[in-house]
Amino acid sequence: MSLITVGTMAFDAIETPFGKVDRIVGGSATYVAYAASNFVTPVRQISIIGNDFPEEELNTLRARGVITDGIEQVPDKKSFFWSGRYHTDMNSRDTLVTDLNVLADFNPVVPDSYQGSEFLMLGNLMPKLQTSVIRQLTTRPKLIVMDTMNFWMDVAMDDLKETLTLVDVLLVNDGEARQLSGEYSLVKAARKIMQMGPRFLIIKKGEHGALLFHENHVFFAPALPLEDVFDPTGAGDTFAGGFIGHLAKTKDIHFNNMKRAIIVGSAMASFCVEKFGPERLREITKREIDERIGAFVQLVNFDIDLV
Ligand code: AMP
Repeated sequence: MSLITVGTMAFDAIETPFGKVDRIVGGSATYVAYAASNFVTPVRQISIIGNDFPEEELNTLRARGVITDGIEQVPDKKSFFWSGRYHTDMNSRDTLVTDLNVLADFNPVVPDSYQGSEFLMLGNLMPKLQTSVIRQLTTRPKLIVMDTMNFWMDVAMDDLKETLTLVDVLLVNDGEARQLSGEYSLVKAARKIMQMGPRFLIIKKGEHGALLFHENHVFFAPALPLEDVFDPTGAGDTFAGGFIGHLAKTKDIHFNNMKRAIIVGSAMASFCVEKFGPERLREITKREIDERIGAFVQLVNFDIDLV
């Protein structure tokens, strides 16, 4: 089963109540690739990096089954740089810097060898570029999942609305769902957003879990209560990678399997936040993933006699 992932590969500077890092590897596609490669390979990556992106990181990804032919390296420019500071509750953050650098002139090209992929994960990126990747595919994938963020709603809402008409699943957080729909109620917001294109909508609520909407159905996956949360950066992308990784592995895109996929996504995200950057994702084993999914099942498993 084959998966294409598109998004940023970046350097991040992050400040949380527990510490600070000035320059750490990040980017939406980096996190997606780390998470998804636990479930499906090859992961066919499309991104852009500058002359400063470590070869060692690319080798680590390659060793996990990530194909890097679609990663363009620009010799005389720097990689995308993002900096953010988390509030004490760790559920909200301020973006301090977004330096597009190589991203400013990015024109993603889908390598011929990537054609025919059945799953497409559009990680957070300029909506125009997400659309361009979809349009370059000679056969429409079985499932197109898209992530985005408030930044693109602020600067490229029209382009974003066009991309929405082309995808099956949209992933956003609660604030972004409200901004996109203009509705406070998440149920009303979901209804409006699904009219914009995606048949499925996932609304992430950080430490309060995630909601999956489809037609008149709604399913809720909690987030695992964790003793230590160091850095939520990339949790959304890691969720996305686990979500699409599970769907690609099982080749089943029905609502019932999407429920499982959001549990898998939540489990992967719970690892991501335990250390800074993608560090924890590099070290986790299949056994740890299975145990964590088991912990999710236990968290919501109860018997009740109806009155
Ligand atoms: P998340 O915490 O899941 O929202 O993802 C954070 C990651 O997204 C960081 O590693 C950033 O490098 C990357 N990122 C931040 N802003 C953007 C943006 N506007 N477009 C694409 N990627 C971004």
